[in-house]
Amino acid sequence: MSKKEFLDAVATEIIVCTKCPLWKTRKNAVPGEGNSESPVMFIGEAPGQSEDIKGKPFVGAAGKFLETMLSEIGLSRNDVFICNIVKCRPPRNREPMPNEIQTCTPYLDRQINIIKPKFVVTLGNYSTAYIFSKANMPFNGITQARGKFYQATIVNMQITIFPTFHPAAALYSAKYKETLQHDFQLLKNKLARHTINT
Ligand code: URA
Ligand code: SF4
Repeated sequence: MSKKEFLDAVATEIIVCTKCPLWKTRKNAVPGEGNSESPVMFIGEAPGQSEDIKGKPFVGAAGKFLETMLSEIGLSRNDVFICNIVKCRPPRNREPMPNEIQTCTPYLDRQINIIKPKFVVTLGNYSTAYIFSKANMPFNGITQARGKFYQATIVNMQITIFPTFHPAAALYSAKYKETLQHDFQLLKNKLARHTINT
């Protein structure tokens, strides 16, 4: 089976999942989507209202800005794989709870294992905390962690982790917006070097 077929199989399970209470209030689960062969995976927090309605990740205001930043570094959302640590929308967009993260992240781990990305870009505190914990790396908040490349072993794979702010942060703060755009330029340069060396 191809990576795409394995990912579709995981998505089929997610769509009907009732393992944590979030299934009761969701319209649609949001497994994630994009290029299953991409060396780059973007991981956000949890679906918001637009995502819940459409069943797709990052299709609301934060998603628009993510697409803008991707295009600024010569990428489109179809060049990368985009997903979240939690696959169903928490009510009123509250933060995901520890039990929800714990119950849901085996799906993310399987997606990482199928895609085998070279780079994992974590967006915001929650996804960075989760991926750092997988890598047994200390995490002292996104502000400290962001904008640096970390060589790590997660799910038995050598992966470069690149944390940055969540794109939603840019919607209410010009400072976060600038930092995000700066971080995406760092990512662009890193990816360019990676392509040259492989
Ligand atoms: N915020 C996220 O973390 N993920 C989405 O898919 C949309 C908004
Ligand atoms: Fe299942 Fe995850 Fe949705 Fe909870 S959030 S119901 S664990 S897919």
